[in-house]
Amino acid sequence: MAKLLRVNLAKGQVHYEDVPEKYRLLAGRSLTSQIVLDEVEPICEPLGELNKLVIAPGLFAGTRCPNSNRIFIGAKSPLTGTIKESNAGGTVARKLAKLGIKGIIIEGKPASDAWNVLVIKKDEAILVPSQELVGLGNYKTMESLHESYGAKVGIMSIGQAGEMMLSAASVAVSDPDGLPNRHCGRGGMGAVLGSKRIKAIVVDDTGADDAIAEIADPEGFNEVCKEWTKTLAANTVGLKNFGTTNLVNPINAVGGLPVKNFSQGSYDRFEKINGQALAAACIGNGGRVGHACSPGCVVRCSNVYHDKDGKYVVSAIEFETVALFGSNLDIDNLETIARLNRLCNDYGVDTMDVGGAVGVAMEAGIASFGDEEAALDMVEQIGKGTILGRLLGNGSTITGKVLGVTRVPASKGQNMSAYDPRALKGTGVTYATGTQGADHTLGNGLPGRFGVDTNSKDQQVEISRKLQIMTAVVDGLGLCLFIGPMPPTMDTLVKVFSKYVGKDITLDELLERGKDLLRVEMSFNKLAGFTNADNRLPEFFSNEPLEPKGVVFDITPEELDAVLNF
Ligand code: SF4
Repeated sequence: MAKLLRVNLAKGQVHYEDVPEKYRLLAGRSLTSQIVLDEVEPICEPLGELNKLVIAPGLFAGTRCPNSNRIFIGAKSPLTGTIKESNAGGTVARKLAKLGIKGIIIEGKPASDAWNVLVIKKDEAILVPSQELVGLGNYKTMESLHESYGAKVGIMSIGQAGEMMLSAASVAVSDPDGLPNRHCGRGGMGAVLGSKRIKAIVVDDTGADDAIAEIADPEGFNEVCKEWTKTLAANTVGLKNFGTTNLVNPINAVGGLPVKNFSQGSYDRFEKINGQALAAACIGNGGRVGHACSPGCVVRCSNVYHDKDGKYVVSAIEFETVALFGSNLDIDNLETIARLNRLCNDYGVDTMDVGGAVGVAMEAGIASFGDEEAALDMVEQIGKGTILGRLLGNGSTITGKVLGVTRVPASKGQNMSAYDPRALKGTGVTYATGTQGADHTLGNGLPGRFGVDTNSKDQQVEISRKLQIMTAVVDGLGLCLFIGPMPPTMDTLVKVFSKYVGKDITLDELLERGKDLLRVEMSFNKLAGFTNADNRLPEFFSNEPLEPKGVVFDITPEELDAVLNF
């Protein structure tokens, strides 16, 4: 039987609980958000004793379902003030599933300032004092923990940013190489873990049963998953060959690639940072493309980047990182972008919020656009904890306020994730109305989806609504989003979920799961004081035409208010 692991820092207790029936078919984002709504006071201080951090693997983690070994973290966000969920691949989700752990709830105010590591094994879960890890970045932290607990354990950890409780702090998750390269990056989940004085979580599944998932029709489930694995791999060859940077060309073509703090939508040197350039650098320098960030991934969008001397730098360089540290800062050098990415992984900060914040700082005149050394220096200041570093580590909204910049590309305090909303209006609608601030992973209106012109407002409200619901279905089952939150995937998930529960469910019932999840998150936000007035984008997106297409974000407030009106 699956169980919940509750860690109460105030009492110093770690214990298992039965899973309430209402949580039985929830997992991933649907479980983290439901528990946050059920247990967290919506108006609480995000870094205070009343907030709770909830960690949950996907429903199908540990099974033969492709791309299912994903880990989700939820809490009230110190960055946005809303409910938040952020997810990553890596090795932890599968191990938790094997141990029969459906979720971990970390709560309470620690009795002292001492730091701990939560160690979870087959027969015990304990807090271990870990003062010696304080001040270390994620790479050294994981190296040390692997030395102590073995090379095969899965680890989640925070770097210096999480220790400082910076609101863009991430939680790193060990990848198959044992390195802190996968991140629950958005919304400051690392700051919440830091507020609980938990430096890391070690998961050792030695001796655990492999067949823990509660599948009603295992034979049928495996058959459906086997077929899906083949089609999924065949349909995602571009992601395997070029990673998510495959998006540089189409996003640049529609005029939505951020350039110099979102002041242009097309980058004249995009070919130096696109998927082809990155793949050539990865392969040419001894790294690789087609890397799987978690066991059971058949899409394999991850890459491994080595520098020109063949030395390992980081994995994986994503489109959003390339856009926000590249074109957004007028930096066309993949070597520099890789180093910036590595620094963020080490300190444990979100590359999107920090890339956006550095862009805002450059607009403020702290450095010139295109100054690579200045960008590296600014990000290094996060690790050092200087005043400027702490500003940047709190994201672009705080940075803009302090430095007097009003052109801040953010919604509800969170930086936009590299898709300019004027040229990608469906994504813009999601930025404005999403339950968690500007986050493309809530419903991304990419070029080619639904066959519409992303620069036109035509159908964008409906497209964002559909994508937000289908994305909530995928997240609510705890799957990797690169299975594609689109109608054909929904048809497949109807079959997979039907076999899991042992009865035929309909497409409408599946989509209702997505709507239910959004209702849960909207309920929390309403209780936290958010209204429709918060579902707006900064004025400059409506007033400042974006070249080369000359478009503005022209979705009206009334149209935005109707997006999640169900
Ligand atoms: S598709 Fe990419 S992000 Fe998803 S599990 Fe595979 S490597 Fe990780």
